[in-house]
Amino acid sequence: MSLIVSKFGGTSLASSKAILQVANIIKEDKSRRYIVASAPGKKKNEDTKVTDLLYLTYDLASHDITFTDTLDKVIKKYKEIIDGCNIDLDIDDFFAKLSDELKGKVSREYIASRGEYLNALILSKVLGYDFIDARDLIFFDNDGNFIESKSYQAIEDMKNKHEYAVIPGFYGENLDKKIKTFSRGGSDLTGSIISKGVMADLYENWTDVSGFLSADPRIVKNPKQIEKITYSELRELSYAGASVLHEEAILPLINDGITIQVKNTFKPQDKGTLIVSDSAKKENSSDITGISGKKHFSVINIEKIQMKKDKSFYRKLMSVLEVNRIELEHMPTSIDSISLIVKENQLASNYETIINEIKTFCSPNDISVESNIALITVVGAGMKNHVGLSAKLFSALAEANINIRMIIQGSSELNIIIGINQDYYEKAIDVIYKAFIN
Ligand code: ADP
Ligand code: ASP
Ligand code: MG
Repeated sequence: MSLIVSKFGGTSLASSKAILQVANIIKEDKSRRYIVASAPGKKKNEDTKVTDLLYLTYDLASHDITFTDTLDKVIKKYKEIIDGCNIDLDIDDFFAKLSDELKGKVSREYIASRGEYLNALILSKVLGYDFIDARDLIFFDNDGNFIESKSYQAIEDMKNKHEYAVIPGFYGENLDKKIKTFSRGGSDLTGSIISKGVMADLYENWTDVSGFLSADPRIVKNPKQIEKITYSELRELSYAGASVLHEEAILPLINDGITIQVKNTFKPQDKGTLIVSDSAKKENSSDITGISGKKHFSVINIEKIQMKKDKSFYRKLMSVLEVNRIELEHMPTSIDSISLIVKENQLASNYETIINEIKTFCSPNDISVESNIALITVVGAGMKNHVGLSAKLFSALAEANINIRMIIQGSSELNIIIGINQDYYEKAIDVIYKAFIN
């Protein structure tokens, strides 16, 4: 029998009705043995995710502002789930203890992690499966780095003892036995790590869309669904903004080539998207796989005549970014100029210092900053073999009167990134989609 790890996201577990649907899906296939659960997400668009409520509860408590109303919303949500699923679980003591812990006794990450802890406990009761706490399986060092060997050993031991189990997503434990969470959307990572640890044949990632779409459905009407996508294409698309799967989720799976299948909890009959290793997908030379993007970037344009003659120029420039903890997104260059593309909020938090340090250490002839930039990434493993794709892209944007501020092509030739004024972001995505996919 094959072995499947199934991760269910927040929207798939946001109500008792959704959880009962999830239980049906799990029970339909006996191979679904290790289930990773997120905290309850949004049932309707205007809802707030439990994780966000828990962060808010912590923040209120830490400022000595009453947090009971916010915590009550969380309690109400779980009570609806427990009643609707008809299970025997008393959560009063759990929340009484949490209220006490909120008085400065625990960390923000610990409080956030309780969302997945409780939801996984509930799902384990609904299914009649063992509950295994993620803090016994996923380990971090005290700098927050994931410890592979210790975690994979613990997961293998768990597999030998438990045929079926439910595991909370999003968190693990550090060497001081304190809860540590991944970044937002991190239950996808838990699913990947468990899949590798148990050597799964398939990692199913159940969400509220029928797989990866070739563009953001909030911008393009009914975008075409992607049936198959490679790890690398997926990473480019997720990093650029397509937020279905955490951008790091494929990293634990690359070496073993474990396939991920994105499926829709509410339309389980839909095929979904298969995410396969780079070698497993035949390149279709003319296809663009998808388009994604993000707003809120700034560009620092630095001009320096004969820049390349100053051998320490790049090092000094990078040091300014490093000491100010700025992540460099991209760095297009020409003979006498260089542009640093960074996140707007990172630059804004220390604007004067960064610009002054660049002036002092790098002595540019000119320096200017542009904000309100959006980056749009067009991804396709077949792009490198296809002449004329860029021309098509640029003429589509030109016809729509959208000015391209910069063009970046990675050495993998898997993508082309363009920078535009973010006021035209939605229009540009739509125009590119129509030119290539529709
Ligand atoms: P989960 O709660 O299951 O982890 P997420 O909210 O993290 O789900 O991810 C699914 C959401 O990603 C979808 O509801 C959709 O709005 C959004 N999304 C953004 N870009 C895309 C895309 N290219 N394809 C599909 N969904 C997308
Ligand atoms: N609940 C966490 C979040 O909202 C983790 C996840 O959903 O994957 O980010
Ligand atoms: Mg998610």
